[in-house]
Amino acid sequence: MKKLTYIQCVISLLLIPFMPSNTLLLAEPTTNIVWNATVYCDESGGSYDFVVFGEALDANDGPPYDSYDVAKAPAPLPPYIRTWFNDNLPSPYDLLWNDYRQYPDTEKIWNLTIQWIPTSGSSPTSVTIHWNTNEVDDSEYVSMTLCNDSGAPLKNMLLDSAYSFICPAYVPQYFTIVCVVINLPPATPQKPTGETSGKIGVEYSYSTATTDPNNDQLFYQWNWGDGAISTWLGPFASGQTSQAQHTWTTKGNYGITVKAKDIYGAETDWSDPLPITMPSSQNFTINEMATFLFNIIRFYKNGYISILFVQISRMEG
Ligand code: CA
Repeated sequence: MKKLTYIQCVISLLLIPFMPSNTLLLAEPTTNIVWNATVYCDESGGSYDFVVFGEALDANDGPPYDSYDVAKAPAPLPPYIRTWFNDNLPSPYDLLWNDYRQYPDTEKIWNLTIQWIPTSGSSPTSVTIHWNTNEVDDSEYVSMTLCNDSGAPLKNMLLDSAYSFICPAYVPQYFTIVCVVINLPPATPQKPTGETSGKIGVEYSYSTATTDPNNDQLFYQWNWGDGAISTWLGPFASGQTSQAQHTWTTKGNYGITVKAKDIYGAETDWSDPLPITMPSSQNFTINEMATFLFNIIRFYKNGYISILFVQISRMEG
C-alpha cells in the first residue's frame, strides 16, 4: 500500500509538465487596475499603432517602473507610425506601450509621442488619434484634455473621441493628456460688447467670451438690466464667442452683465456692466408726431373759434 502511494506520487510529479498551465495556478493573479484606455493612432496610408494608459492601486508615477508598464516592441520596417508614452523611466521603458500610474490622484499628465517614418523622402501624412470616451470616463478625473506640445487644449477627451492632424515625417510630435479631478470654474466673462445706445422696440445683439481652465464647454446667462435675465444659453466651446439678443421696451439707462458656468455647474461672477442708453423709440416717434399734429390742428381750430367769438362779440357790441 505504501509502495503504491509512492508510485502514485512519482506518476503525478512526472505528469505536471504536461498538464495545462492554468491548472497549475491555484488562483488567478490579482490585478489592481482601476481603469485604462487605449489611444489609437491611424495614418492615412494604412499604418497604425496604439498605446494604453491607465491607473492601478499599486502602480508608480515615474521611476521605478512597475509590473504594469510595458516597453514598446522594436520598430518595424518603414513605413510605420509609432506611438508611445514617456514617464521618465530608463530604457527600454522610456518608450512605453502600457503606461500605468498610481490610483487615485487629483492631477496627472501623460506624455504622448507620435512619430511617422515613411519609406523614403519626407512626406507628411494625415494622422487621427482616437479613443473611446466611455473608457476615459471610467477614470476618477472630471476633466481629461488632449493638449499640444505647449499645453494648448486640442480636445476634451471625455466628450470628443478623435483628433486629426498633419504629421511631418521623422519629427516626433509631442502631446499631453492632462487629467484633473478638481473642476475649476471658468474665468469671469469679458464685459459684453455691442451697441451702447439705441431705440426701444429694436432688437440688439451683444457678445462675450471666456475660457475654462479644464477646457469644459460653457453656458452663458445675460442680465439685461431691465429686470430680464436670460436662460442659460449654450453650450459653447471654451473661448468661443457667445452672442445673445435683447429688446428693451422702456426708455432708460441700463447695464448689461453676463456670467458663465461650465457643463459641471461651476459658475462665475457677473461680468463688468456694459452701460447702454435707450433714449427713443421708432413707434413712439410716430405716436408723438400724430399727437403733435393733432395739437396743431386743435390749436388752430380753437384759435379760429376764439377769433370768431371775439369778432362776433365786437359785432354784437
Ligand atoms: Ca471647469
